[in-house]
Amino acid sequence: MNLGAKFDNSYARLPAQLFTPLAPTPVAAPKLIRFNGDLARELGITTSDDAQLAQIFAGNVAPDGAAPLAQAYGGHQFGNWNPGLGDGRALLLGEVIDSHGQRRDIALKGSGRTPYSRSGDGRAALGPVLREYLVSEAMHAMGVPTTRALAAVLTGEQVWRETALPGAVLTRVAASHIRVGTFQLAAARGDLAGLKALADHVIARHYPDATGPEGLLAAITARQAELIAQWMALGFIHGVMNTDNMAVSGETIDYGPCAFMDLFDPLTVLSSIDHGGRYAWRNQPDIAVWNLAQLATALIPLMPDRDAAVESFTNIINGFAEHYLLAWRRRFGAKIGLAEPTEADQALMSRLLGLMAQDGADFTNAFAALAGDKAQDQFTDRAAFADWRRDWQARVPDPALMARANPQVIPRTHLIEAAISAAIAGDLAPFHAMLEVVTDPFAPLTGARAPYARPPAEDERVLRTFCGT
Ligand code: AMP
Ligand code: MG
Repeated sequence: MNLGAKFDNSYARLPAQLFTPLAPTPVAAPKLIRFNGDLARELGITTSDDAQLAQIFAGNVAPDGAAPLAQAYGGHQFGNWNPGLGDGRALLLGEVIDSHGQRRDIALKGSGRTPYSRSGDGRAALGPVLREYLVSEAMHAMGVPTTRALAAVLTGEQVWRETALPGAVLTRVAASHIRVGTFQLAAARGDLAGLKALADHVIARHYPDATGPEGLLAAITARQAELIAQWMALGFIHGVMNTDNMAVSGETIDYGPCAFMDLFDPLTVLSSIDHGGRYAWRNQPDIAVWNLAQLATALIPLMPDRDAAVESFTNIINGFAEHYLLAWRRRFGAKIGLAEPTEADQALMSRLLGLMAQDGADFTNAFAALAGDKAQDQFTDRAAFADWRRDWQARVPDPALMARANPQVIPRTHLIEAAISAAIAGDLAPFHAMLEVVTDPFAPLTGARAPYARPPAEDERVLRTFCGT
């Protein structure tokens, strides 16, 4: 079937050991839940017939020019090396050049078993598909580099996740799906040719100005520092920052047990599988460094001299701290309306965060309220807030900058869960309504938008999030 978009599948031309060519497993009764028309136009997709789109994005019909394949990768999961990961429930359909001249992956998630499925069924349940759709599109709307959601399709089949649930397929669009773990697997296999091809591919595709493994590592490190600072500034917790879930492009990838914080607590960890709090909000920059060190280790075989490589790579990764500090200061500076924050302003930001943590303020609403005249309502220690406010006002914050840096709404976990429950019961209206709101995050909270900014009541609070795979 002709989708309109022209495929050019560069990953499929890489050494064969990096992937397995494989078609999606057809499903019983594809039905389109949602199609992202704006993104489709960017990709040059011209098909607009719902039934055809459902067939293609369920994996039942291959679009002309696609060369579906499952990517091989390994990864450190919660610090433990696992060489046997890879696309277990996903397939790369192929790549297209978008209207900006950028190469983009189009991939299916939930498309059936692959050689990397291990004991999994290769399928996705409706809940995780809708969650990824909502959160990734909200992240994009907030200006965070991220994979995108192009389509969600019901399969007409059930999947078993402790109970029977409707099955679905998400179509994900990414700058690429190459992960730290993709490099790690090639290195662990001693596959120098694969490693070299991968590095050349990533340089050409994402970092054309980078020279050699050092340039590549430096560019990825800088991009990650920027990305994590953006997560932090939105109270976003990825939840599973395993090395297989860190894209070398610098896009946020793999929305599993992720969440935005409601009450501000730097130690917040929500994922049901993160027992030690390894991926708590506060730990994310350190974990990024840990992951980058694994990438550096994987790149060593590409360097002529091991000791010199270790020294050089160590310096590059040590550069994360400075880059991150400046990115953090710029992001949090914008949140309090300071375009050129100084080191002294950094103390002002930390003081505010300290107050927010002490008072258990709602992360999103406290920042969103700062520009208005009711900000003190977000704090219990009003005297301390008034002191802070006086010092802050002396710096003459720019309200327009704040309005662009502080979303009025984020996809709140309890509302995502409510939308998912309704969808499982057959009502997709709450999902569609929520998507409209969270993809316009900086608009004023008028009318039907207002309830989406309300923090969860005590009995609505979601204390644990699940991968749901
Ligand atoms: P994650 O950390 O959720 O991205 O997944 C880790 C690994 O498990 C990846 O290799 C996935 O492809 C694989 N996986 C997760 N869920 C399934 C499933 N239902 N069937 C097969 N493989 C899966
Ligand atoms: Mg993953």
